[in-house]
Amino acid sequence: LDEAERRRVLVEWNDTARELPRGLVPELFEAQVARTPDAVAVVAEGAQMSYAELDERANRIAQFLVGQGVGAESIVGLCLPRGVDMIAAILGVWKAGAGYLPVDPDYPAERIAFMLRDSRSVLALTTEEILDELPAGRGRLVALDDPLTATQLAAAPAMSPGVVAEREGLAYVIYTSGSTGRPKGVAVTHGGLANYVTWAADAYGKGAGGAPLHSSLAFDLTVTSVLVPLVSGTAVVVSPAGGAEGLAELVRDHGGFAMAKVVPAHLPLLSELLADDRMASAARTWVVGGEALPGAAVRQWLERSPDSVVVNEYGPTETVVGCCVFEVAAGDPVDDVVPVGRPIAHTRLYVLDAHLRPVAPGVVGELYIAGVQVARGYVGRPGLTAERFVACPFESGLRMYRTGDLARWSAGGQLVFAGRSDEQVKIRGFRIEPGGEVQAVVAAHPQVAQSAVVAREDVPGDTRLIAYVVPTEPIGPDAELGKAIREFMARRLPEHMVPSAVVVLDALPLTVNGKLHREALPAPDYSGAAGPRREPSTHEEKVLCEVFAQTLGLPEVGVDDDFFELGGHSLLAVRLINQIRAVLNVEVPLRVLLGASTVAGLAQRLGSQKSARPALRPMRIQEES
Ligand code: AMP
Repeated sequence: LDEAERRRVLVEWNDTARELPRGLVPELFEAQVARTPDAVAVVAEGAQMSYAELDERANRIAQFLVGQGVGAESIVGLCLPRGVDMIAAILGVWKAGAGYLPVDPDYPAERIAFMLRDSRSVLALTTEEILDELPAGRGRLVALDDPLTATQLAAAPAMSPGVVAEREGLAYVIYTSGSTGRPKGVAVTHGGLANYVTWAADAYGKGAGGAPLHSSLAFDLTVTSVLVPLVSGTAVVVSPAGGAEGLAELVRDHGGFAMAKVVPAHLPLLSELLADDRMASAARTWVVGGEALPGAAVRQWLERSPDSVVVNEYGPTETVVGCCVFEVAAGDPVDDVVPVGRPIAHTRLYVLDAHLRPVAPGVVGELYIAGVQVARGYVGRPGLTAERFVACPFESGLRMYRTGDLARWSAGGQLVFAGRSDEQVKIRGFRIEPGGEVQAVVAAHPQVAQSAVVAREDVPGDTRLIAYVVPTEPIGPDAELGKAIREFMARRLPEHMVPSAVVVLDALPLTVNGKLHREALPAPDYSGAAGPRREPSTHEEKVLCEVFAQTLGLPEVGVDDDFFELGGHSLLAVRLINQIRAVLNVEVPLRVLLGASTVAGLAQRLGSQKSARPALRPMRIQEES
């Protein structure tokens, strides 16, 4: 690089200095309450809550927490269902001076206990229903709806305890997949969070409509859906169902959002589920993040929704949600891989070689991120923190985060994502370390001698996690053992980290150097249950067999085959449900499918509840209590 080029990549393309945000997020929210106390802040389960009401609920939670000894730098777990209290609790934790740790109630009990312990949470807020499911030895858990707590909350002062958050203070800890066998908690500061939220509110939050909340609080993309509306005076519209199912419901039934935050896989799915008029009016800005954004998906989206804009937002949890963006509107030229664009306010991006020297535009290097959004590090993991958060050679005294992402600058100064330098993968937007955390769990199974976990894309656009195991005693291919190992993993890992298939092998294929020969690993066989396939005997079974096969991309499916064992996952489940609605005029909630995932099981649930009369609206199958 000559001096001019060096200046361009280090300084000119990183010229992001601006005025710092006017305040931290709790203050920005309170200022919004003062401006629009009666505006709707949250819509959940048909009910609404105003800014003033939400603030009061948050104040009472804060007063309660202070009474429990919570203060600056405390970590408070939030193991709550998506709803008003989840949002009030985030604000309440901050008003008490503490940081929150989001804990997804759907995670296996063991993982929840680990996160609470590992983060040294002083207590966790939950509900009585969730509390019943949680294991012993999990620390202090308080159910907000427990009669005693409810009384204490009602009696607590409606005023904020008046603790002022600090720029360097802890805002939240989010756990992300670990490369060394266990997940790691990223500690994000209020200053970093305020920078992102202020920037995002300006970029995405303007105008009426608010945002849908469908994703889990355990992922930082949810920060955009919750906090951007709340500092902009608009509403967070909560879907109780969650995931792609909840998102599809919200955009179909509600729509008209200012902004919706999604992962790339949601675009083709929504496109398939929504009628033209619904698509056009669903949201003005689609903020798409979490993994590489294919140009084709954006092109197809904008053809049908030409008044919306799609923003490719890039950012690791370690630098707060998003730190780099590229906007595409209808008519804009779109490359096959949409660039991730330019850094946002107070953020600097460096593409460096192995000696931390900047590389020229067009040359792929590793991406490092500096600026106010760089997190403190990993809770209780100084070694790992030192490895990933390194001294910035271009600004003395500053740190930068080493992303592990490969990237290059275009000639015009747009950053282009170019894959990973390690094994970390993204599957449907979820960050996963197959060879770290996931393999550690499969290796812990008593019948597993050797194992490998890899991400495969046997069907284009559908990356799946596959585990290969060599049993302690040779038994040849064994579907039952594969199933048992998968169940073992499901009890220990969140759903998105459980491999779609477990393949039993006599030996792992090795290269001449004795390393795993990845290319020689066989594709998993999804041909279904062992033994002769039982044919459908009723109309419903026949239709369901066809719909299962079509959704899963398989030639045939038998009555006893299980949707999830055949490689079905959450997004395919939403497609399946949509097909069943179209063909049988029946609405199957995802939870029903989770409990009855074979053709025979589901047909029985349909048969026992479906009305004999033809229904105008799809009839909704009730969940079993
Ligand atoms: P997470 O911490 O879950 O947000 O994951 C961060 C990682 O996801 C990054 O290091 C990238 O590998 C990937 N990622 C996030 N957003 C994008 C994007 N817009 N394009 C390409 N990769 C992305």
